[in-house]
Amino acid sequence: MKRILITGGAGFIGSFLCERLLSEGNDVISLDNYFTGSKSNIAHLLSNPYFEAVRHDVTMPFFAEVDEIYNLACPASPVHYQYNPIKTVKTSVMGAINMLGLAKRVKAKILQASTSEVYGDPKVHPQIEEYWGHVNPIGKRACYDEGKRAAETLFINYQRQNRVRIKIARIFNTYGPRMMPNDGRVISNFIVQALHNKPITIYGDGSQTRSFQYISDLIEGLVRLMNTGDEFTGPVNIGNPGEFTIRELAEKVLSLIPESTSEIIYKPLPEDDPTQRQPDISLARKKLDWKPVVPLEEGLVHTIEYFRKTLES
Ligand code: NAD
Ligand code: UDP
Repeated sequence: MKRILITGGAGFIGSFLCERLLSEGNDVISLDNYFTGSKSNIAHLLSNPYFEAVRHDVTMPFFAEVDEIYNLACPASPVHYQYNPIKTVKTSVMGAINMLGLAKRVKAKILQASTSEVYGDPKVHPQIEEYWGHVNPIGKRACYDEGKRAAETLFINYQRQNRVRIKIARIFNTYGPRMMPNDGRVISNFIVQALHNKPITIYGDGSQTRSFQYISDLIEGLVRLMNTGDEFTGPVNIGNPGEFTIRELAEKVLSLIPESTSEIIYKPLPEDDPTQRQPDISLARKKLDWKPVVPLEEGLVHTIEYFRKTLES
């Protein structure tokens, strides 16, 4: 049994990670300030004596004797991370410093939930880990992108300078049940709009692309990364290489909700919205023996099912 700390444990990804690590017999602590996460995501775990939910902000130090730390605390949807951009930078940077300090002190292994956003609006396609990215440091998305880039810098330097055992996962767009209906991300928006017979809002002309990974594939990738030997630190891309235009996504969602009367409408493209995104996952295949197994359509069916139930209740 390992003692594992998950920051952002009450969020979309964090709650599935808590579930997975508890099911493997570990002792799990979720640390969350409930900004974008919710107690309802982890309510079903609270009766497990090996699970603890702690309300805490990662910009403040935290101490606990643990063997592993998954550092996930940070709002992930553009709407949420741009709500208070200074706080977003603090969460990424001070959160990383506090969790790395803890890892150093208790000799824990620590994994950072980094992002494909470190590649910005990428000029190399598909994105390989060696690509340094194309990020506007003063744009609206910078609080998230640069915060995550600074966190990677902190992680690698704690490894170089203090021999802290680190892992960096560059996570590509992930979706599934427990995304918040008002989260603002494209998959939750389109599904909720279609279920409510409201217009489907495509930003720009819908020709921009994203690659969508189902939550269970990501969780498998993260756990495999944590379990690699100390010599492998990453960064490693974890995503599904299936690439779709946003227009294709809208059409797919509508085809899976045939009773919907929603029409597609076009709205202005947000500032610095990346034009293309697709992971090269050769490194993950090689080092983690991992690849995604849930195709977009199957993942969408599960997610639509979840939103149907949530919106009804
Ligand atoms: P989420 O918003 O559902 O989860 C983030 C969690 O962190 C929430 O529970 C929130 O309350 C908590 N949090 C935020 N600020 C905090 C703070 N200062 N102190 C303590 N807790 C705080 O988002 P998610 O999709 O589950 O993302 C989890 C992590 O994965 C994030 O770090 C995100 O950047 C990263 N990521 C996600 C995606 C994706 O597509 N979902 C892609 C790339 C990277
Ligand atoms: N998007 C859209 N309509 C929406 C929400 C998002 O067309 O209602 C677009 C958005 O402009 C972007 C893509 O979908 O091009 C993915 O957006 P999301 O916020 O989910 O993720 P990110 O931009 O961070 O990859």
